Amino acid sequence: MVYECEDCHKQWYYNVKKCIFCQGDVTELAPAKSTVRGFTKIEIPSPGHTRVPYCDLLLEDEYGNFEIRKSFADHELGDILAAEPKEAKKVAKERTVGIVGAGTMGGGIAQICAQTGYHVLMIDRHIETSKKALVKIDKALSKTTKDEVKHEIMGRIKATANLFEMEHSDLVIEVLTEDMELKKEVFRELDNECSKDTIFATNTSSLSVTGLSEVLEDPGRLVGLHFFNPVPRMKLVEIIKSKNTSDEAVEYAKEVAFELDKTPVITGDAPGFIVNRLLLVFLNEAMDKFADGTSTAEDIDKAVTLGLNHPMGPLALSDLIGLDVCKAILDVLYKGYKDHKYKPCKTLCEMVEKGNLGRKTGVGFYKY
Ligand code: NAD
Repeated sequence: MVYECEDCHKQWYYNVKKCIFCQGDVTELAPAKSTVRGFTKIEIPSPGHTRVPYCDLLLEDEYGNFEIRKSFADHELGDILAAEPKEAKKVAKERTVGIVGAGTMGGGIAQICAQTGYHVLMIDRHIETSKKALVKIDKALSKTTKDEVKHEIMGRIKATANLFEMEHSDLVIEVLTEDMELKKEVFRELDNECSKDTIFATNTSSLSVTGLSEVLEDPGRLVGLHFFNPVPRMKLVEIIKSKNTSDEAVEYAKEVAFELDKTPVITGDAPGFIVNRLLLVFLNEAMDKFADGTSTAEDIDKAVTLGLNHPMGPLALSDLIGLDVCKAILDVLYKGYKDHKYKPCKTLCEMVEKGNLGRKTGVGFYKY
C-alpha cells in the first residue's frame, strides 16, 4: 500500500488520515502492474488447495510492494502482470465507541473498532483488566500489522476507570459477565451518564434484550449486537431487535456491523437467538453420544469435521467455549422453550459439577 497526499504529493507506506506536512487529503495509490520476482510450483493437493499444479508468485508492484498471488498459469521471472482490481474500500465514519467489559469479547471488539478507525473508550471493573486487554490487542496486532499502523490503531484506544467518560460516545457496547442484574445495574448508570443520542448495545449470548432494555428511560435505544469468538476472525454479527428496539437503533447497528467488516443477520429476541439455539442442541447431542461409550471424543470430532466439513468437532468446540457456558446457555433455552431437547445432558452437568470446564481449567473432553 502506498498513500499519497493530493496536494504536496508526499508518499507514505502506511495509512495516514491527513498529510502530516500540509494536512491535505490522502489517497491510496493503486498499482497498475507487478513484476514476477519469484515463484513456487505446487504439485501436491492440500486442504483448500485441491486443484494442482498451481504457482505461488512473488510479485513486486511499481511502488516496491510485494505480494503473493496464486496462479494456475506458468510464468517466468520478470513477467509483467496486470494488478488485480481491489474492492472499493469502505470508509468508516468518525465514531466514538464505549466498550464496557474488557474480557475475552470486549478486548476483541475494542480491537476491531480501533482497526476500523473508531475512537474507543474501554472500561472494566479494574483498570488493570483494561490494561491487560490493551497488551493482548497490541500482541495480536503485532502478528498482522506493521509497527507504524499498530501504533496508530493503539492510539485510538483509551482505557478509563470512569464510566462518565462514556458521556459523548456514539455507541456503547456492553460486554460484561453474563449476569442480568449486573448488566441492568450498569445500564442504569450508563443511562444517567450518556447523552440522549447514544445508542446502547449488548453482546449478551443468552439474556433477554427486552428485559435489559426495561431499565432505560428510552428502551428503544438498546439493541443486541452479538459478536462471535474470536471477534477479529468471525464474520457474523447477530443483531437482536427486542420488543422495544427502535428501527433507528437496528439501522445504526447494521451500519456499524458493515463498517467493522462483519455480516449482520437480524433476529428477534428469543432464547439463543439463531446460532446458539441451533449449536447448543448439536453440542449437547455430541456429549450424549460420547457418554454412550461407543465412540471416543476424537472419533466424534473427526466424524463431524470430515463428514460435515465443520472446521472443528463439537467436543473440541465445547471445550473451547467452556462447559459451564454451554450449560448456562442450555439452561436458558430449556427454561425459555420448555422443551426437553434443550435439557443439558447428564455428562455435561457432571463435568460442570466437577469443575472440568474445558480449556480454561485444563480438562474437558480433552486434556490441555
Ligand atoms: P469475560 O469474563 O472474559 O469478560 C467479562 C468482563 O466483565 C471481565 O473482564 C470482568 O472483569 C468485567 N466485569 C464484571 N463485572 C464488572 C463491573 N461491575 N464493571 C465493569 N466490568 C465488569 O466474558 P466474555 O467471554 O468476554 O463475555 C462477555 C459477554 O459476551 C457475555 O455477555 C457473554 O455471554 C458474551 N459472549 C461471549 C462469547 C464467548 O465466546 N466468550 C461469545 C459471544 C458473546
